[in-house]
Amino acid sequence: MYKLLSLLIIILVILLGIGIYGHINKGIKEPVETITPTPVVSTIPSIIPSETPTITYDTTSPDSIYVIANKKHSLGEYEPSDLVAVSHPGSNGAQYMREEAAQSFEEMMAKADEDGIVLYAQSGYRSYNTQVSLYQSYANRDGIAAADTYSSRAGYSDHQTGLAMDIMGENTRMNASDRSDCPIEQCEGSPASLWLEENAADFGFILRFPQGKQDITGYVYEWWHYRYVGREVAKEIKESNLTMEEFFNVSGGDYENN
Ligand SMILES: [Zn+2]
Repeated sequence: MYKLLSLLIIILVILLGIGIYGHINKGIKEPVETITPTPVVSTIPSIIPSETPTITYDTTSPDSIYVIANKKHSLGEYEPSDLVAVSHPGSNGAQYMREEAAQSFEEMMAKADEDGIVLYAQSGYRSYNTQVSLYQSYANRDGIAAADTYSSRAGYSDHQTGLAMDIMGENTRMNASDRSDCPIEQCEGSPASLWLEENAADFGFILRFPQGKQDITGYVYEWWHYRYVGREVAKEIKESNLTMEEFFNVSGGDYENN
């Protein structure tokens, strides 16, 4: 009898124990999982430079899009290795430019088409040898002094960079050798000229020989001669109203031996 009683008590104690334990357990909060933050490696340098470094442009390597070819800086017999033919050739037939410049040129021509402006790629890349004979023909016709104001001696031509293009419009003319010979609407006042002046920089092209800058660029005003320098620099040059020589602080003007 006692045995049975004590057995019941034991069972009761056990059941009571489980009940209490369960009750207590419910009151204990579930442990919240804590995420250990992974250490962030800081990319901010401990010393922040107070000035942004000056951008340096390579104006001497013939392969640089910033290269300056003028009467003080010769390209020697440099030949670009990435020339491609561009669309819209003028009366001279197929014209070539370096790939990057040609790509931008095509985009510019597409925009001109869209705006209803007719443009022709009249003269792009010219080799050292082509320039030898071209310059000679001008010198024979007009004399060396006159030829030097609008044509380059071989090695000194912007066209040899593969980044330049003479662009013509409808019924336009080049009037470098005789400025009085051209009605404004066929030259600097032509729709082609005005459109280029407004839009070329958006495609990375600058007017290489602006008006009144002959003592710096070495050449008379050529409204048709555009030079690729990339969009960023082209916009800066246009806004600053500087020549390429002034913008990059590179010497220009006449030949050393003159
Ligand atoms: Zn030209």
